[in-house]
Amino acid sequence: MSRSALVIGGNRGIGRAIAQRLVERGDRVAATYRTGDCPDGALPVRCDVTSSQDVKRAVKEAGEAHGPVEILVVNAGITRDKPLYAMTEEEFEATLRTNLTGAFLAAKHAARGMIRSRFGRIVFISSVVALSGEAGQANYAASKAGLIGMARSLAREFGGHGITVNVVSPGLTDTDMVAVLSEEQQQKLIGRIPLGRMAQPEEIAAATEFLTSDRTGYITGAVLPVDGGMGMGH
Ligand code: NDP
Repeated sequence: MSRSALVIGGNRGIGRAIAQRLVERGDRVAATYRTGDCPDGALPVRCDVTSSQDVKRAVKEAGEAHGPVEILVVNAGITRDKPLYAMTEEEFEATLRTNLTGAFLAAKHAARGMIRSRFGRIVFISSVVALSGEAGQANYAASKAGLIGMARSLAREFGGHGITVNVVSPGLTDTDMVAVLSEEQQQKLIGRIPLGRMAQPEEIAAATEFLTSDRTGYITGAVLPVDGGMGMGH
C-alpha cells in the first residue's frame, strides 16, 4: 500500500538513500533539505530541524501534497566531536538540538495525523555509539542514546493508536559524515567491525524500509543495529 512518508534530512547520505528506497517502494515521499537537492520522485521541502516552525511547515506541506504523514523517518544529524575538556557548551547543545530536539519536534508535529488515521511508523536514526559510547563524542552519543529512550517512551504512548516507533542504529557508513575522518581513523574503526567494511547508505535504507512497512506492525520499541557487528553485545 502506498503511504505518505516524510524523511527529515533526505538530501544526502543515509537519508537520501532512505527517501530513494521509499520512492522505489511506491510511497508518496517528501524529503527535507537545507542544502543541495532531493532524490527524483520525492517532494523537496526546505526545513531546518532545529526550528519548530520549519518542522511544522514540512509536516503540513507533506500532508497537503500526499495526505497526512503516515511514515516519519528522522535522519538529520550532526557531529561536533571533541574531547570533553575542549567541548564547548555550544557544541554540546547544538548537537543535542539537531539530533534529539529535532526528532522530538518532528514526532510531535507528525503524530497528530497518525493518531487520527490510527496508523503510523516512526523511525529514528540513532548510532552504534548510543550504547557503546565513543571517546570524543559525549555530545553525539548522548543525543543518539536519547533517541532510544524517546522512541521507547513514544512506543508505549502511541501503541494503542496503531503507531510503531523504532530505532535504526547504523555503524560506520560511507557518507560525508565519515569522509571528514582521516584514512587512518577510518581504518582504525573498520578494524573494530566484524564484517571488515563500512556500510553503504542503501544497507541502512533497507532496514528502515523494513521497519516502515505495513507488514512490520508488531515491532515497536526495537533498536535494529545495522553495524556489521560492531556493537554486538549491547
Ligand atoms: P551526512 O552528514 O551525510 O548527512 C546529514 C544529513 O542531516 C543531511 O541530510 C543534512 O541536511 C541533515 N541535517 C543536518 N543538520 C540538519 C538540520 N539542522 N536540519 C535539517 N537537516 C539537517 O550524514 P549521514 O548520512 O552519514 O548521517 C545520517 C544520520 O545517520 C545522522 O543522524 C547520523 O548521525 C547517523 N549515523 C551516521 C553514521 C555514519 O557513519 N555515517 C553512523 C551512525 C549514525 P543538509 O545537508 O541539508 O544540512
